[in-house]
Amino acid sequence: MLGAILYGPRDVRFEERDVPRIMKPTDAIIRISATCVCGSDLWPYRGIQPIAQPTPMGHEYCGIVEEVGSAVTSIKPGQFVIGSFFASDNTCPNCQVGYQSSCQHAEFISTAQASVLRVPLADGTLVATPAVPSDDLISSLLTLSDVMGTGWFAADAANVKPGSTVVVVGDGAVGLLGVLSAKQMGAGRIIAMSRHPSRQKLAREFGATDIVTERGDEGVAHLKELTNGVGADSVLECVGTQESMMQAISTSRKGGYVSYVGVPHGVELNGEQLFFAHVHLHGGPAPVRRYLPELIKLVWNREINPGKVFDLTLPLDHVAEGYRAMDERRAIKTLLRP
Ligand SMILES: [Zn+2]
Ligand SMILES: [Zn+2]
Repeated sequence: MLGAILYGPRDVRFEERDVPRIMKPTDAIIRISATCVCGSDLWPYRGIQPIAQPTPMGHEYCGIVEEVGSAVTSIKPGQFVIGSFFASDNTCPNCQVGYQSSCQHAEFISTAQASVLRVPLADGTLVATPAVPSDDLISSLLTLSDVMGTGWFAADAANVKPGSTVVVVGDGAVGLLGVLSAKQMGAGRIIAMSRHPSRQKLAREFGATDIVTERGDEGVAHLKELTNGVGADSVLECVGTQESMMQAISTSRKGGYVSYVGVPHGVELNGEQLFFAHVHLHGGPAPVRRYLPELIKLVWNREINPGKVFDLTLPLDHVAEGYRAMDERRAIKTLLRP
């Protein structure tokens, strides 16, 4: 079996790997229908998050179940399934309150850029679609494995309600799907922060009503102006840098909600600033498993089309070009088909 392996900065290879097999009775083996490159894959790809040895890549996946372990009861061979980037039992106290990405038995999925994948805790992790989907639904279903679920969590954690004024910081795939999620939840006004014309266009298609191109203090000033000096009800921070986090907190109204779903790199919050900001903060690795049933229904009924974030589709053996295109910002997100 072939799969993607990262050897070092900007060195991804498509190489022979061991075929995954059932290792525990709770495992499932799935044949990947589609996988993709994540914005977070770019941190190790760029060498910002160093790796100790050649590392298999990929955590977003959907596909057909080939085999299940003897203890698996709800998932069956032949089903089309989607799972989160964190496997979870869906029964422990953390899962029961909807934080499956903090499952007491969570296992990170890290080998999905391949043709076959082993998924631990199959009953808790995987959700089957009503039937095997037609090909045009696959890209949207794939986004539910991470980016769409993460954008949805960003909007949910930022308390987006019908009529809310929402700011989305970050125009990557997650930010764009945060826009779509806020729209779906009934936001009245959605201000997207973006400097890139192609991303602005998609943000508008997904429901953005205003675009702010400035960053930092200028960006905050423009946002304050757009919200009559009050700030937004809900701010979705979808980047993970010091600048984006401070921008998010400064843009919220008093008593507003800030969610943060970009993996933080070097973010430090000043206690005094935080104290006087008077905001609700809620974020972390998105519990996308919580939202899978609801989001599968929305995609299945063609009410949302999050698959539009994929602006590049490549055969899986061109995975290295998929990373390059995203690294050089030629692509928002790369879909890979085995
Ligand atoms: Zn991801
Ligand atoms: Zn759990």
